Amino acid sequence: MIKLSRPHIGEETITRVAEILRSGNLVHGKEGAAFEAELSAFLGVKHALVVSSGTAALHLALLAAGIGEGDAVIVPDFTFPATASVVSMVGARPVLVDVDPYTYCLDLTALQQCLASWRGPERLRAVMPVSEFGHPVDMVALRALLAPHDLMIIEDAACAIGAGEEAALSGTQADIGCYSFHPRKTLTTGEGGALVTNNDDLAQAMRRFRNHGMERGEAGLHFYFPGLNYRLTDFQSAIGRDQLRSLPGWIARRRELAQRYADLLQPLAERFAIALPAAHAAHSWQTYMIVLPDHVQRSAVIAALAQRGIEANLGAQCLSALGIYGDKTAPSLSVARRLYTQGMALPLYEGMSDDDVVRVVEGLGAVLAG
Ligand SMILES: *Cc1c(COP(=O)(O)O)cnc(C)c1O
Repeated sequence: MIKLSRPHIGEETITRVAEILRSGNLVHGKEGAAFEAELSAFLGVKHALVVSSGTAALHLALLAAGIGEGDAVIVPDFTFPATASVVSMVGARPVLVDVDPYTYCLDLTALQQCLASWRGPERLRAVMPVSEFGHPVDMVALRALLAPHDLMIIEDAACAIGAGEEAALSGTQADIGCYSFHPRKTLTTGEGGALVTNNDDLAQAMRRFRNHGMERGEAGLHFYFPGLNYRLTDFQSAIGRDQLRSLPGWIARRRELAQRYADLLQPLAERFAIALPAAHAAHSWQTYMIVLPDHVQRSAVIAALAQRGIEANLGAQCLSALGIYGDKTAPSLSVARRLYTQGMALPLYEGMSDDDVVRVVEGLGAVLAG
């Protein structure tokens, strides 16, 4: 079976984890501090905080930003539900805006229309763009569009660590950037995540919310406000440190594989009216998702591919189709809905061979030719 994705944990890492387990220092020790320092150096940001999941990172970002009841936050309609769920969980309302059919990221024209027609009653506080599947959000254009508005940018770069141009990596150009280290992401610590910011006050608030609202000062422990426990263990940080060293090479390999997919899929795309993803040069390719034409039943294609030893799956959810976010306005959300029903993720991970890509494309061609 050619799997959709496969976490990459080396034997040296397993040895390191065993050493840390034997040491007895399991939480917030040397490894966590070193992982944070290495992440902030790699990403080029002042503060990096490691946390227990990508969802924890998103939640802490909203808490530190003081977003809650009476507030609204703009979220793309095509993403993993956690992006909007954290908004609901702090008592605010997610406002769902449509996405681009090829980048799968927030559609800036739709965003502009949403801002221009915003009537409340909530106070619009932030935009949460998602660098979907590793496609970098166009932060220059987004910032220009948001310039007249007093809105924070909290980027959900959960699946996009290492994406983006070198001096402006995904997650680093927002007020707060959030990453996930779930096994389905390119860099994994089992469960885990991180937050980055260049703002000292936000960093301090996030650090306190992460750890029971508490901080150790000269006079001992002080509790500043009620908080959570979203800490990452030291053995997970040790895994993350090793993963981070390998990440650039893995992304380079994913870019080669994505290019190979694009080349080999081109004839199929023309013959069967399949849409291929926008191939941004700085895409990190956490997922390679194509879009099947409307008359093709995706579940049948997935089942037929499975029979040929190829795993495929849907890409992400259309949030407005879930009906759980109390969206009252429900504008035309057709792109997100189509991506949700017709989008299909193909196997992609750095350990795949060139021949695996050929097998996937040949398998897909045979299935579609029926
Ligand atoms: C994976 C993912 C999350 C959730 O991260 P967890 O670490 O699983 O909590 C949130 N948003 C997006 C866009 C994701 O891809």
